[in-house]
Amino acid sequence: MIKKTFNNMPKPHRWFISGVAGFLFVLILFPSKPVSAIKNAATTLEIGKRYDLDVNFDNFKVEDFSIVEEMNTPQSVVVKKGDNLATIFKRVGLSPQQTYHVSKAGTQAKKLLKIMPGDVLELQIDPLGQLVSLHYPYTNTETLVITKAEDNAFTSTIETLEVDTRLNYTQGDVTNSFWNAGLKANLSNNQIMQVAGIFGWDIDFALGLRAGDSFYVMFEEHYINGEFIENGDIVAAQFVNQGETYTAIRYQDGNFYTPEGRSMRKSFLRAPVNFRYISSSFKKRRFHPVQKRWKAHRGVDYAADRGTPVIAAGDGKVIKSSYDKYNGHHVFIQHGEKYVTKYLHFTKRKVKRGQTVKQGQLIGTVGSTGLASGPHLHYEFLVDGVHRNPRTVDLPKAQPIENKEKQKFIDIAKNRLQQLNNNKRIMLAMN
Ligand SMILES: [Zn+2]
Repeated sequence: MIKKTFNNMPKPHRWFISGVAGFLFVLILFPSKPVSAIKNAATTLEIGKRYDLDVNFDNFKVEDFSIVEEMNTPQSVVVKKGDNLATIFKRVGLSPQQTYHVSKAGTQAKKLLKIMPGDVLELQIDPLGQLVSLHYPYTNTETLVITKAEDNAFTSTIETLEVDTRLNYTQGDVTNSFWNAGLKANLSNNQIMQVAGIFGWDIDFALGLRAGDSFYVMFEEHYINGEFIENGDIVAAQFVNQGETYTAIRYQDGNFYTPEGRSMRKSFLRAPVNFRYISSSFKKRRFHPVQKRWKAHRGVDYAADRGTPVIAAGDGKVIKSSYDKYNGHHVFIQHGEKYVTKYLHFTKRKVKRGQTVKQGQLIGTVGSTGLASGPHLHYEFLVDGVHRNPRTVDLPKAQPIENKEKQKFIDIAKNRLQQLNNNKRIMLAMN
């Protein structure tokens, strides 16, 4: 250990051994905080001063250096809010010069500009307060390694762990809510939201699900050295909603398509509010069909807590954003020539008249302003000026996959569908 410590000493810090009696002279050019490492050799040392220290070599024991070992152990530093490399280095006693040299350690070192609260940096600092190495695992599989080279220079490399990708499969039936069904099928919160996202253009997850609906999901899992690390992408999924089957296959561009190669993404989302926020219970909805209320006031009501975010169902332009005593705070959006969507009873409007909005953009928050008995979003969908049911209206056809990608995608889709059906069969046999 002592030998190792000696070898780690940077060039400017030489240990001079002199004298027949075996005196050791230590020359310290830039002593910084860890002077306690050699506290047995001196009483007080001042930063920036030069010292000649003599140590009785005959009495030199391993115990005297226990503290040295301790200081050489890598220390983990958790990045706090507002931290940057300089504040972290200062906290552990590293000089601004070292911060500078580390930040210049090649292009990879730029990753240190993007450290986030909660990230962990592993620092190895030698007994003289000089950084020996820095490890920054910025993903589960990739680590930035910065090591001290000659003099004050540092070099940087990326260490990559080999990831083994495996396919997993799950399925479930909707009995009360998709959220509960997803959890029961062992999908993570994230995966449940992803499935709702994949089918959100076709299915109204807030009000459109019925008991008997079912879903089938095939997804990747990442393993390192046989150990589960994280879920990967969903590669194929199916949702049966009110007897209609929707199938989505992921392509390498990260988008989902039908097995025929049409994008799952459409010009309108079925529901302008995240299904998780909808408070009306599943059962209640079955006994009070939306269709009935639909006829009464030509819109769909989504009961949700005050303040729940409401998003634009499609790209468009805000043609109205104002208040009146019936509609309360309301926003109307024009989508191309044909379509207008209307959103009523907001607590707060988040867009202005004339503003361009993107699909999924926040436009207001649920409230009960105007003629409303409780907080809810009243949503209307107009085609050529005529009110239509947003949950059943035929929407413009989605874009197909690019022609040059089509054959490749069709082959992948065929393979995925086969895998999905095999999995279904296996599950059926097990039940
Ligand atoms: Zn309403």
